[in-house]
Amino acid sequence: MTPSEQAVAHLGLKIGEQRISVSVSVPKGPATLREMLPAAQELTNAVVAAAEAAVAAEGRKISCTAGCGACCRQLVPIAPSEAHHLAALVERLPEPRRSQVRERFAAAISRLTQAGLIDALRHPERLDEAMVTTFGLEYFRQGIPCPFLEQESCSIHPQRPLACREHLVTSPAAYCADQSPKKVEGVMLPIKLSRVLRQLDQASHSAAPPWLPLILSLEWAAQDLAEPCTQPGPEWLRQIVECMTGKALSHSGEPDIAEESPEQ
Ligand code: SF4
Repeated sequence: MTPSEQAVAHLGLKIGEQRISVSVSVPKGPATLREMLPAAQELTNAVVAAAEAAVAAEGRKISCTAGCGACCRQLVPIAPSEAHHLAALVERLPEPRRSQVRERFAAAISRLTQAGLIDALRHPERLDEAMVTTFGLEYFRQGIPCPFLEQESCSIHPQRPLACREHLVTSPAAYCADQSPKKVEGVMLPIKLSRVLRQLDQASHSAAPPWLPLILSLEWAAQDLAEPCTQPGPEWLRQIVECMTGKALSHSGEPDIAEESPEQ
């Protein structure tokens, strides 16, 4: 991606019971959804920070800490734009790290193939919600670490997918590791940007599946030859905020809604 001129949006949003103030940068001109990822990451971080503050106000504590990769053996759903982002990130790694990460992806796919799970992973559109839950547990039982997990820490932490950012628990880390989902107390977020991104990806890409497993991100990005949809960054942002709040923003007709502060 070549750097493009940015516009700054100052947003004040009310989502559920939470008020979120956040400034995000978006490309002023035509951009792909992948180029909107930094803004989506900022918005996710703001939603997560508000949820963490709400948890703290209740006297509870988030138990997720650096060095705990217990949840990094789960099935991580990502958007196609995130698959392209991760593939480009791996492509930019210096050798021998690039080859090592690619080998981890290949080894994981090989193990999932042996476990008989790979076909379903390649067709997530065939899994309904109940099947995804069952399938997710089966995936977790395989104990396959994410290819980006190194010494139980995320090696791409600043660039990790939105779903990873949104996964927070207040229960002991041991519960996450021993595959006892009934004991794990997750933190409910009022909105998940990961879902918003997947929704917009699907709406703008005729061949996009509803979600992709992170483990197939390199494979999918290599096969997806479709020209990505582009529109001005502020227009993407308007759509993202509308999906987040469930309310339509008034459109000024100006290309830069970034100067507005929509208080919803
Ligand atoms: S990308 Fe990082 S946080 Fe997400 S599953 Fe992989 S190692 Fe864990």
